[in-house]
Amino acid sequence: MNFKITLFLLLSCLMYNTAQAQTIFGAITVFTENEQDSILPHVNIELYTKETLFVSQMKSDSVGMIMFKNVPEGIYSLKADIENYKSFLLEGVIVGAGMISFVTINMQTIEAFELKKRKDMNCMYDMRNSKPKCPICNSKKEVIPYVYGLPAERLVKNEDQELYVLGGCIVRQCRPLWYCKRDKSDVEKR
Ligand SMILES: [Zn+2]
Repeated sequence: MNFKITLFLLLSCLMYNTAQAQTIFGAITVFTENEQDSILPHVNIELYTKETLFVSQMKSDSVGMIMFKNVPEGIYSLKADIENYKSFLLEGVIVGAGMISFVTINMQTIEAFELKKRKDMNCMYDMRNSKPKCPICNSKKEVIPYVYGLPAERLVKNEDQELYVLGGCIVRQCRPLWYCKRDKSDVEKR
């Protein structure tokens, strides 16, 4: 890992404010890495809206970096693909006006993925796309989704409701998708 990238990673949990306060656009910077946290260049990245409309497509460069500029604020999905690796869909990437969201995607080889599957070392988190019941309180009422990219407060507030929980910027295949506010706990599989 070279110095430039190390520095970027150190900064990757900082938000960036542009001079134009009025802007409704932000940006997403994506770093692509392999499971050993080394640079994985030339990963194809597709950007979609929350409603799964295609926005843009780019390939990460030779240092495994890519930037989507002028993205209207909102919540997005990223789909990452490269030969011999398991396709990665990251939902809940949050873009704030005048800010750059940083996301590091760790790609897993198909071989490693299949090996993990066979060993039944599957993820402990409930990975369902639709809101699951919390196994602790047995209710969906206080369950909110994770968003990735913008590390402000742990719970992102919207009109005094806590609607999202921040998952940080380094994202693996196995990651929490849901959080129970009542039990202050990630929703795990039953
Ligand atoms: Zn609960």
